[in-house]
Amino acid sequence: MKDLEGKVVLITGASSGIGEATAKLLASHGAKVVLGARRKDRLEKIAEELRKSGKEAIYEVVDVSRYEDMLRMVKTAVKAYGKVDVLFNNAGVMLLSPLHELKVDEWMKMIDINIKGVLYGMAAVLPVMREQNYGLIINTNSTAGYRVMANSAVYSGTKFAVRAISDGLRKEESTDKNIRITNVAPGPVDTELVSHISDTALRDELNEFTKTKGLSPEDVAEAVLFAISQPESASVDEIIISPAKKL
Ligand code: NDP
Repeated sequence: MKDLEGKVVLITGASSGIGEATAKLLASHGAKVVLGARRKDRLEKIAEELRKSGKEAIYEVVDVSRYEDMLRMVKTAVKAYGKVDVLFNNAGVMLLSPLHELKVDEWMKMIDINIKGVLYGMAAVLPVMREQNYGLIINTNSTAGYRVMANSAVYSGTKFAVRAISDGLRKEESTDKNIRITNVAPGPVDTELVSHISDTALRDELNEFTKTKGLSPEDVAEAVLFAISQPESASVDEIIISPAKKL
């Protein structure tokens, strides 16, 4: 029997990068994965590939910044598989720019996706997990959730918020329910994340940096697998993972 056999894992941001790599890794360990993101074609292709190789995967097109979408994703999972063991709240955007450029729309987008998206995921899944008296919520944080750099004030702000929300939820749930919360905080990872930065010079610089010096999405997937694989008596509160070759 595979180690995650029978586990139902919801993954947001599953259409690329860390979410996609994690979906593939967890499915190969026997988990039933429910993929969520906005790009239907990508989700369809990933789920189909997984199913063709004998794994369990379904998907739901969701915008995490809409509470009703996250409720629908959880409903789909429960209907298909009867429960939710893990929510990997991973979708996010990183729209870096200096504050004085006043890219207010981009600030709001990061707040909507990175903070509200995480809250909506939690809100959608908590009643199910409390009823089950079992669950693990893994939030994708970042090393930017621990220290602030130039051009990343708002992005860092969203990740600091995710850490605060995770800490608070852990303190509440660990006292009366068997619900654990893990923060996974990677350093730079070679994914599509930087491709959405609107400042082209900053985008090119970071793209080069993550391509040559970053972690792979598969590295981060291993950290998620580690958190899920621990005994129920152990809570992996935080994982910080950075490239082995120091910068
Ligand atoms: P990607 O851009 O490859 O993945 C981001 C994922 O989020 C995509 O699947 C995207 O799918 C999804 N997404 C974005 N907006 C929404 C939305 N509104 N609703 C639903 N899904 C959405 O980047 P990563 O894999 O790197 O990013 C994953 C997480 O990792 C993010 O939270 C990021 O902040 C964090 N992180 C990344 C680091 C890095 O250097 N790459 C470092 C530290 C943390 P779609 O567009 O189809 O909706």
